[in-house]
Amino acid sequence: MEKIAIITGASRGIGREIAKTLAREKIKVIANYYNSEKQAIELQKELKQENIEIDIIKADVSKREDVKKLVKFAIEKYGKIDILVNNAGISEYKLFSDETDEDWNRVINTNLYSAFAMCQEVIPNMIYNKSGCIINISSIWGLVGASLEVIYSVSKAGMDGLTKALAKELGPSNIRVNSIAPGAIDTDMNKDMTQEEWKELKEEIPMERIGLPEDIAKCVKWLIEDSYTTGQVISINGGWVIT
Ligand code: NAP
Repeated sequence: MEKIAIITGASRGIGREIAKTLAREKIKVIANYYNSEKQAIELQKELKQENIEIDIIKADVSKREDVKKLVKFAIEKYGKIDILVNNAGISEYKLFSDETDEDWNRVINTNLYSAFAMCQEVIPNMIYNKSGCIINISSIWGLVGASLEVIYSVSKAGMDGLTKALAKELGPSNIRVNSIAPGAIDTDMNKDMTQEEWKELKEEIPMERIGLPEDIAKCVKWLIEDSYTTGQVISINGGWVIT
């Protein structure tokens, strides 16, 4: 039977590209979106033109009841979940002293709690099947910290901690858990950057280019095909950050 994958935040950017890549590999994709229904429908239509069917499901993954609904859909329709990509995320750019509890809750719940809740809901099925692959999309800022992005950095470092600890707990159940920590990737998340800022950024990157969603999607595909890599944080950043 074909593999079943849930990808959170698949309406735009990196998640959208991951959805396309996996769907073209004959993996049955359940693409989650929240606000961008139009883009999610477009993605579904685009793949339909290639004779590929995907499911698109609206859910706010920062909320437990929505996470439950998303996972219930997958189990009821397909009976199993082989792959979970926790990709949904938001950024936040503020002086630390201006951050509020609301900012903390919004960013942590969307970026980190979502991964915790998704894992909790999906893992019983993976344990039952003694097979699973979980990929958390974190960030270089979780590794090295970003000025003016403290809460975002915390959320991504938290994801990497989740990856490492869960990998140890779930290895005996043949479930692998890894993080991909992207550098600067050309998506809506960076849409406020000026041409000048992009140019300066490119000059700091040894590979002399900004990353593309495809760079991340290729690594997701590889991690799914692999069988021995677990508990790792793979940073795809063109050499911008080398730890
Ligand atoms: P993006 O283009 O802004 O897309 C973000 C995606 O997350 C959208 O599909 C959005 O869905 C979804 N999302 C946000 N809140 C959600 C919620 N509560 N429930 C469900 N989905 C939600 O960003 P991106 O660049 O592709 O980022 C994807 C991931 O990569 C994020 O976790 C981000 O932190 C990480 N990352 C990005 C970069 C970068 O440079 N771009 C670098 C490092 C890490 P809707 O629009 O449908 O609401």
